[in-house]
Amino acid sequence: MLAQAVQDLFPGTALGIGPPIENGFYYDFAVETPFTPEDLKRIEKRMKEIIKQGQRFERRVTTPTEAKAELAKEPFKLELIDVLTNAAVKTSSEITTDMAADIGGEELTIYDNVDPRTGERKWGDLCRGPHVETTKEIPAFALTRIAAAYWRGNEKNPQLQRIYGTAWESQEKLDEYLHLLVEAEKRDHRKLGAELDLFSFPEEIGSGLAVFHPKGGVVRKLMEDYSRERHEQAGYEFVYSPHVAKSRLFETSGHLQWFADGMYPPMQLDIERDADGETKRPAQDYYLKPMNCPFHTLIFRAKGRSYRELPLRLFEFGTVYRYEKSGVVHGLTRARGFTQDDAHIFCTPEQMPAELDSLLTFVLDLLRDYGLSDFYLEISTRDPSKSMGTDQEWAQATAALQYAAEKQNLPLTLDEGGAAFYGPKISVQAKDALGRSWQLSTIQVDFQLPQRFDLEYQDSDGTRKRPIMIHRALFGSMERFFAVLLEHYAGAFPPWLAPVQVVAIPVSKEHTPYLEDIVGRLRTQGVRAEIDDGDDRMQKKIRNAQTRKVPFMLIAGEQDASAGRVSFRYRDGTQDNGIAIDDAVERVLDAIRTRTQV
Ligand code: ZN
Repeated sequence: MLAQAVQDLFPGTALGIGPPIENGFYYDFAVETPFTPEDLKRIEKRMKEIIKQGQRFERRVTTPTEAKAELAKEPFKLELIDVLTNAAVKTSSEITTDMAADIGGEELTIYDNVDPRTGERKWGDLCRGPHVETTKEIPAFALTRIAAAYWRGNEKNPQLQRIYGTAWESQEKLDEYLHLLVEAEKRDHRKLGAELDLFSFPEEIGSGLAVFHPKGGVVRKLMEDYSRERHEQAGYEFVYSPHVAKSRLFETSGHLQWFADGMYPPMQLDIERDADGETKRPAQDYYLKPMNCPFHTLIFRAKGRSYRELPLRLFEFGTVYRYEKSGVVHGLTRARGFTQDDAHIFCTPEQMPAELDSLLTFVLDLLRDYGLSDFYLEISTRDPSKSMGTDQEWAQATAALQYAAEKQNLPLTLDEGGAAFYGPKISVQAKDALGRSWQLSTIQVDFQLPQRFDLEYQDSDGTRKRPIMIHRALFGSMERFFAVLLEHYAGAFPPWLAPVQVVAIPVSKEHTPYLEDIVGRLRTQGVRAEIDDGDDRMQKKIRNAQTRKVPFMLIAGEQDASAGRVSFRYRDGTQDNGIAIDDAVERVLDAIRTRTQV
C-alpha cells in the first residue's frame, strides 16, 4: 500500500524492496529528490484512501520471464528476479532476508491490488506474501521516518530513499508503540551521553571509536570494578593480552578465513632489505584483534596442563576492534572498538554440565545486580549441514545447556539449527524499562578452537585429552552494556553507579560551611558528593541537580544548620525535612551498599 501510494503520487518512481521488519516495515524508492515530512503526510493520506476502498489482494503465480516482462520498468525488481531465481547464488550470503521477502518462496508470486466493486487491477507487486485479504484489514498504521539506503546495502550501488512505517491491530496499540518510540528517542544513549557529559565520538578519532569523559568514566570504572570483584569470587583468573598480533595467530584461529571482512586491514611491518634495497625478509602482517579467544588459547597452551588445573577460567577486559560498515555503526551499541568482559573456560567434558550451570547462574545474578530483571533465554542448536564435532559431543553439550537453562525458570526459546558450526550456545536476552529486548550474555561451547590450537591436558589416568572451551561474554561489551543501562535508566543511574551521588545545596551562602562538613564526611566514606556553592538561587540549583540526575540532594538553611539537620531530597522531587545528619549519611550509604534502584 505504501509503494502503491508512492507510485500514485510520484508516477515513475522505481521500487526497491519492501520487507516486514520488527514492529513494522519499510520500502525503498528511487527518487530524484528525497522525500520530505510533508510528502510522508500526503502518502499517509493516500494510503488511508486505499484502505477505505477495501482493495482486495490477489495472489498470482508467475514465472521469471512473465514477471520480467510485466516489471520491465522496474530495474531493481528485474535485478532481484535475476539474483533470487539464480540457483547458484540463491543460498549465498548476498541474499538478505529483507531481499527474500520480495521473492523467497517456492514460487514466484505477484500480488494484485484489485478494486472490490469493478474488479479492476489497481496496482501490483512482486511479493512472497502472505497478505491480508483486503486493505480494510489494516486498522492502524503510521509512516515513521525517512532514511537514505544503498541498493542491496552496497555503497557502490545507487542510493535510494527508504520510508519506514509501522502497522498495528488497533489504534490503541499503534499509539502505545508511537509513545514507546518517543520515549526511546528521549533515552537515546547518544543524546544522554552528550547531555550528561559521559562520552563522545570525536570526528578526529574516527567513526565508532568512543572516548569516555570523567563522568562516564566513573560509571564505567564502577561497572568494571564490581564485575572484577565478582569474577574474583567466582574463581576466575585475570589475564591480559595485546591489541595486535601477527596474521599467523588469526590464520590458526580461523578468523582470517571466516571473519576477515570484520577486521581492520593489516599493518605491514618488519620488512628487511639488504644493502641494494632488495627484500631479504618480506613484511609481516599485523592485525588489530577482533576477538580475545586466540590469545587465551595460547595462555592455556603456554605450559603442560593437568586435569587438576581444570576448569581453568581466564578473564580479561579485552579491547577488540571490528570494522563495522559505516551504515551499521551506531553509538556505543555498535562500535568499531570496544572492550569485552571476556572469559574463556577450559574444562573436561565431565565438568562441562556443572560449569555451564554455574556459569548461567553467575551471569544472571550479575545482570540482576546491575538492575535488569526481565530475561529470556535462547538456545541455538546444531545445523547438521554445517557443524564440526561428533554427534555425541553435540548431544552432550546441547543437553547440558538445556538442563542449565531449564533450571533458571525463565522463558526459553529454541533457535533450531541456529548454532555456529563449532558448538551450541545459550544467549541471555534482557528486556529494559521500555520492554525492548537486548541480547547481552552469550555462553558458547566450542569444539573447534581447542582442536585448531591443539590444546591438551593430562587426565588422571595419564592419557592426553582435549579440553572443551566455553566462550562467555557477560555484558557483551562494556560500551554496549553501558548504553543499555543508560537507556534503561534514562540516565538516572542507581546511586551505586551514579557519577555524582550527592549534591549539597545551601539555602544561602552562610550555610555553605555547614554543608561542606557533611560533604567532607560523605567523601571520607567514599561517597561522590559535591557542594553547589555557585551563585544560582536554591531552586535553580535543585533543578540543575535533577537535570544531572543526581540521586540525592542535601539542602540546609538556618533552621537545619542550627538543629544539626538537613532536608533530604530525591531526584523524583520527594523530600524529607529535618533529617539528622547521621541518618542522612546512613541513608546515602545504605542505598549505595544495597545497590537499590532509587
Ligand atoms: Zn571467545
